[in-house]
Amino acid sequence: MLPKVKSATTSSRSSTAERASGPATPIQYVKGVGPKLGALLASRGIATVKDILHFFPRAYEDRTRLLRVSELKDGEKASTAVRVLSSRKIPTRFGKSILEVRTGDTSGTLSLKWFHAPRGMESRFLPGIQIIVTGSVKSYMGRLEIVHPEITWNVSTDTGESAPGAANDAAASEAGNPNMGRVVPVYTEIEGITSRVLRRVLWEAVEKYITTLSEDLPERFLRQHSLPPISESIRTIHFPPDSRDFSIANLVEFNDPAHWRLIYEEFFKFEYLVLRQRLRMEKDPAATFGLAGGLVALKELESLLPFKLTRDQERAVSEILADLAEPHPMNRLIQGDVGSGKTAVAFLAASCVLAEGGQVALMAPTEILAEQHHRSAIRLFGGKLKTALLTGKTTNVERASLHARLAAGEPLLLIGTHAILEEIVQFKNLAFTLIDEQHRFGVEQRRTLRHKGTRLDPKTGKNIYPHTLVLSATPIPRTLALTAYGDLSLTSIRELPPGRSPVKTKIVSDRTERNQAYEQIRRELAGGRQAYFIYPLVNESEAEGFTQLKSVVVEAERLANEVFPEFRVGLLHGQMKPEEKALVMDLFQRNEIQLLVSTTVVEVGVDVPNATVIAIEHAERFGLSQLHQLRGRVGRGSWASTCFLFTHAGTGATANQRLGALERTTDGFEIAEADLEIRGPGEFLGTRQAGTLPFRLANLVRDKDWLIKARNDAAELLKFDPELTLPEHVRLRNFYEREGSIQFDRLKTS
Ligand code: ADP
Ligand code: MG
Repeated sequence: MLPKVKSATTSSRSSTAERASGPATPIQYVKGVGPKLGALLASRGIATVKDILHFFPRAYEDRTRLLRVSELKDGEKASTAVRVLSSRKIPTRFGKSILEVRTGDTSGTLSLKWFHAPRGMESRFLPGIQIIVTGSVKSYMGRLEIVHPEITWNVSTDTGESAPGAANDAAASEAGNPNMGRVVPVYTEIEGITSRVLRRVLWEAVEKYITTLSEDLPERFLRQHSLPPISESIRTIHFPPDSRDFSIANLVEFNDPAHWRLIYEEFFKFEYLVLRQRLRMEKDPAATFGLAGGLVALKELESLLPFKLTRDQERAVSEILADLAEPHPMNRLIQGDVGSGKTAVAFLAASCVLAEGGQVALMAPTEILAEQHHRSAIRLFGGKLKTALLTGKTTNVERASLHARLAAGEPLLLIGTHAILEEIVQFKNLAFTLIDEQHRFGVEQRRTLRHKGTRLDPKTGKNIYPHTLVLSATPIPRTLALTAYGDLSLTSIRELPPGRSPVKTKIVSDRTERNQAYEQIRRELAGGRQAYFIYPLVNESEAEGFTQLKSVVVEAERLANEVFPEFRVGLLHGQMKPEEKALVMDLFQRNEIQLLVSTTVVEVGVDVPNATVIAIEHAERFGLSQLHQLRGRVGRGSWASTCFLFTHAGTGATANQRLGALERTTDGFEIAEADLEIRGPGEFLGTRQAGTLPFRLANLVRDKDWLIKARNDAAELLKFDPELTLPEHVRLRNFYEREGSIQFDRLKTS
């Protein structure tokens, strides 16, 4: 049952001696592991002592107390010390057999059962030997039994015999027993390696190597938060002290000092890097703007606006201007709900740079959006803001002339899609890059754009970097602002422009309510307004397993022919060609289509103030932030607007409750926090990028308080020893030198 290790350890004695000293020791050299088990563990990512020490239990069992058989209760998990009375194999049909072992103590008998018992197992249950049995007790036909119990062999000194394989338990019990008389860890099985085997390996690893783990954290911070040293944390997590001193429930929920310490460590190590990165970027050179006539130009444009900026917009503009006036690149994120007027802020900032001869690029995720921005620049400012549009639709002739103008350095606000990123598009003096709906772009695309604006300063021989402003309509939960976006400065626009009536939101879950909703939509359309119908999927084939999901194509037909035959209905989905999409969008914008049936392609930024209703089918399938964004398509004009969230029979109570948050609040920041709790960071970062957040134990929702502490401490450390040269920070510096900051590099937002 247990691997033999003798030959392996002797044959590689010298290398063992070399490597046996620290946490980097290959797992196979841990006593009781050996090459075979070692290879198996390594194939699952547990290659070293350090790895296994960080392979944490999924649960614990309190085996501090052994029960007598008479104390065992049906349905409870328990441990008891019993003597083997007899064993037998009961043949079943199909040539299999059940192994039944009868055991007992002076208070009663207990039967143990194995279906498909491993070959030869029965020979270990010699009548008379003492064993400890752990498992879930069942009462079966009036008799107590445990199916597939865990057995601790050779626990009593009064049996002369030692069962095969028992030597390992005996060895372990020299320094206490990992399996008995304590709170015992339960591990997730790895490739058939049982929790019990893993427990023994960990017992050895903890005993032998725990003191070799490097204490990377400055002692000062640990003391300040009353957190234990690394060795004590890891030991407690695997083999907690007596259960009277603490709660297993807390341990399982990571709610104890041992876990807190590790959580804090993950956050601290990450925050130090993020903040150091930010400090370094803040030292890079950049051109300054706003000091040579840019402000005047900006004021002039502002006076052309048909509205007055809100206070939040004004604050955003002044924060950006302050950044532009610095000889270091701006790296700022403006987050504000849909309709909060981020675009106007971006245009004004751009005008300041243009007026002083800099080029500006504004990249949007879709053609529809890029065109809309271009149109509104013209609508708002006429020719006063010099703009050009570059998308997949731009003709070759237009393109060639545009390329030439950009290369010649003409101060221009180039609005476009990722077409801007093409190699052939070269700017002479791209000083300011703007990214709309930035979460729609990958890190690489954002970097490419920044790179286009990086150029060599002939005077200093150093690179000059562009200023970067990213816009996001998905408010980011505070914890993500501190982690995934930790290297950016933040501006929040919370206030919506005046004259908007908040969108009323209603969950629609049955047929009657649905018909009422249809009638309300009919009244709106008859009154000259427009409506969106949003569906999660394009074709039924995508919905395998969700056959109830309605296909947008089929539904568009039904709505057009049966429900709203008196109105013009258009269809928009992701599988249409860009020019088809643009045509439909254009018709909708001009109110030649009253009802737009669409997948979530309209999600971002589309601005049709005349639309007053949005109905979202299968709302339960969307994240709250996404629904909130969709809802922001309406309520852009002065009419009262409504958002219907259609849910379907079979939508669970929790899903409906979750959607209730949208009925209660229109504050995107509040919704973002709720969404993070329910759906995790992938909802905000995209699954791929969220996967690069290097937190194994720490949880952004549960451990928020530790994140903030770690952030503050890292900032403090950066103030008095940024390069970690003091002796008390050497181990932390060694950690970064050893492990690098690879994960962090992939995360950087700019
Ligand atoms: P978003 O923040 O979602 O990108 P937009 O910039 O598209 O929002 O603005 C939404 C609409 O509000 C646009 O039609 C814009 O012209 C208008 N708008 C922006 N700022 C104001 C304001 N201060 N007062 C009135 N309307 C405004
Ligand atoms: Mg926008």
